[in-house]
Amino acid sequence: MTTAVPPSPAAARTDLSVWPASARPAPDGDVAVGGVPLAEAAERFGTPLYLLDEYEVRERCRTYLRSFPDTDVLYAAKAFLCHALLHWVREEGLGLDVCSAGELEYAVAAGFPSDRIVLHGNAKSPQDLEAALRLGVGRVVIDSAWEIARIAAPVPAGTRQKVLVRVVPGVSAGGHVAIRTGTDDQKFGLSVADGGAEHAVARILDQPRLELVGLHCHIGSQITEPGPYVTALRTVVALLARIRDRHGTVLPELDLGGGHAVAHRPGETALDIPALGARVRRELAASCAGAGLPVPRLAVEPGRALVGPAGVALYRVLAVKRTGARAFVAVDGGMSDNPRPALYGARYAPRLVGRRTTAAPRTATVVGRHCEAGDVLAADVALPGDVRPGDLIAVPVAGAYHLSMASSYNAVGRPPVVAVADGRARLLVRRESLADIRSRDVGL
Ligand SMILES: *Cc1c(COP(=O)(O)O)cnc(C)c1O
Repeated sequence: MTTAVPPSPAAARTDLSVWPASARPAPDGDVAVGGVPLAEAAERFGTPLYLLDEYEVRERCRTYLRSFPDTDVLYAAKAFLCHALLHWVREEGLGLDVCSAGELEYAVAAGFPSDRIVLHGNAKSPQDLEAALRLGVGRVVIDSAWEIARIAAPVPAGTRQKVLVRVVPGVSAGGHVAIRTGTDDQKFGLSVADGGAEHAVARILDQPRLELVGLHCHIGSQITEPGPYVTALRTVVALLARIRDRHGTVLPELDLGGGHAVAHRPGETALDIPALGARVRRELAASCAGAGLPVPRLAVEPGRALVGPAGVALYRVLAVKRTGARAFVAVDGGMSDNPRPALYGARYAPRLVGRRTTAAPRTATVVGRHCEAGDVLAADVALPGDVRPGDLIAVPVAGAYHLSMASSYNAVGRPPVVAVADGRARLLVRRESLADIRSRDVGL
């Protein structure tokens, strides 16, 4: 065991360990990502601004494909969705996981092949199911007994919809109670422990218009170790064996979900993807051999680990306020573009960019511009003591669950998204304007 030593102020200022691999210190205290200096991007596109490093996303896709051979790697689109990102992950050979008709139509309209898409959801609406069948989605993941007949009914006679059953293996894992989905006290999936999963399997096998191809589980998010996946896998393989014994059916697929942790601050633990891949495949082979089952086709569904570390949020400081012992640095975005701190207590490591300073660091709380005291982006972080209005603050690891959860709160408008690669920046998603917001209001 080594004791953690707090980094020196100078080391903290140069630590780009959680930034995209392309991040480099640039002249005048700036940082360049994908070869694009952040101050230049802020000047050109305005703030708040989100940058997405294309090669970082692509490299992360490749790490998964190398770590999980003979596996379907499905990007969990809810982490962030736009046309260019869909194009990148598809080009790299990934499939997609969506959880609504909206995400599904978005992906198909962008040219994503529907047979490479899996539809999730604990409460699928009639519109979700209609879109799934109309667009020919590859798999529907059944999440409750109620759904079985509702999915089967509209399937045209003579055809079969492929389905998986989402099971709850009774594994508690994940970075926050709101993102733990592996136990029986939350809303997702069918319980292995109380027999709900097996009951659903029996009913699906009785439906001539449904083809049960496998089991699915997603035990939570921000999981830092392979252990919980191995525990879940053993439970699910045992269930596959019981299904074979009871029904004589050997299910050919096993989807282990996502939830792979990333580090948001230097020193935090990220899940080691090559280690996860090796361990999961070894355990799967061993468990199946023990149960006398053929090894099913594996699928994994990373969201955050593919895009989170590829994103950087960039804000302009609007106000600095010292109240008693606290210093508040207020920026031009906040909970409308990143609700994660308010939802999950997520922590970040913001950094001053675009200005050289020798001022000693001081503890500050970076807050947003919204009318909520809970609109805090990063509490108690070190920023140069001379931080002032007009400065730029960059927040790394901003690519997942920021803009996909963003809102129009206070009619501020959601920020644009820019791709950076090879020293060039190009607009992917434009800034939300007041006209965009007002256009939904049909008047008196
Ligand atoms: C959210 C979710 C994922 C992705 O989770 P990450 O933490 O972003 O990897 C994968 N599968 C399902 C079913 C999900 O709900």
